[in-house]
Amino acid sequence: MPRTSHRLDAISESVIRNTTRTSDAYNAINLAQGFPDFEPPPALLDALVTATRGPFHQYAVTWGAPRFRRALADKITRTSGVAIDPDQHLVVTCGSTEAMMVAMMTACNPGDKVIIFSPFYENYFADTILAGAEALWVPLRPPTFHFDPDELERAFAQGAKAIVLCNPGNPTGKVFSRDELMTIVALAIKYDAYIITDEPYEHVVYAPYEHTYVHALPGAFERTIVCNSLSKTYSVTGWRIGYVQGPPDVIRGARKVHDFLTIGAAAPLQEAAVTALEFPQKYYDDLRDFYTAQRELFLGYLRQTGLPFTEPQGAYYVMLNIAELGFDTDAEASDWFIKTIGVAGVAGSSFFREPVQDYLRFHFAKSAPTLHEAGERLLRVREQR
Ligand code: GLN
Repeated sequence: MPRTSHRLDAISESVIRNTTRTSDAYNAINLAQGFPDFEPPPALLDALVTATRGPFHQYAVTWGAPRFRRALADKITRTSGVAIDPDQHLVVTCGSTEAMMVAMMTACNPGDKVIIFSPFYENYFADTILAGAEALWVPLRPPTFHFDPDELERAFAQGAKAIVLCNPGNPTGKVFSRDELMTIVALAIKYDAYIITDEPYEHVVYAPYEHTYVHALPGAFERTIVCNSLSKTYSVTGWRIGYVQGPPDVIRGARKVHDFLTIGAAAPLQEAAVTALEFPQKYYDDLRDFYTAQRELFLGYLRQTGLPFTEPQGAYYVMLNIAELGFDTDAEASDWFIKTIGVAGVAGSSFFREPVQDYLRFHFAKSAPTLHEAGERLLRVREQR
């Protein structure tokens, strides 16, 4: 019998998506896979209804419907301060998930090396392997998740073709400072590497922290491949609309990869999403205020459990340190939390290269009643264990 690709031996199924299935099977509150339980903005839903009656039911232009790309370019120009050309700098994809795969396949030859910070969002390693590349690991050290610039330079010096940067960080909640990003850009220039960013939480950043766009830093634009998505900003994770943004030569390559992978993102959804991209600044301010409130609500309960946890500066994930609960593995802990407590979190080891078993990752992109219920359940951890 033929054997499937050896690339698949190196990667496992997504632990995040697996945890969702277990959570559903036991009717737990799913704080594992990060997505909202509330509705997208009403104006966006109205636009979707209107789009269903328009001429949007066949393929859009493979690299993105022109009206959508125009609105997207204007939005990125407004928020990052860098003029984005819809015809030269963008490819619309099926979520940031496809965008990252496209970025890797565009940037890398088989055998190339890609720097990944650990902990990391699990797709980065899978995408590296699927692109035929190899990972070079650099730790982000808890609790602040800082990196050692010398250690990072040693990784670049091994001939890295690219570095992947998740900012704001999933699962760390780290918002990279401008200085840290300048260090990364300087090394990428020195060693002539791409910076592949993943920035779906660009608008979920807690005061006093602020999001810095790497592509807006001096000397960065020509080597930065941005992967991003509308999923989190407009609460539409099921729409699967994302994009790759980069310099024209990269985008010419990315168009080819994307076209052969998926042809394109759903045309009626692109049409509807123009409405969201035109929202005023107030929408983004309200979004940040909303998540700030959810963060306080959820962290309030975690504090009462007495267990240590990471305080996110951005994004909506918390790493709860479960070491003192005495489980043999975090997978066992995740199972126990689902079945006994009724709240699902992701086993933290799936985010670490190092053998770390001390964390469960929970998210708080949920409505207040859901977070209150989850919080009340989590307060029972000590008496149940
Ligand atoms: N990014 C989200 C998370 O980390 C959702 C991941 C996914 O399943 N696409 O949970």
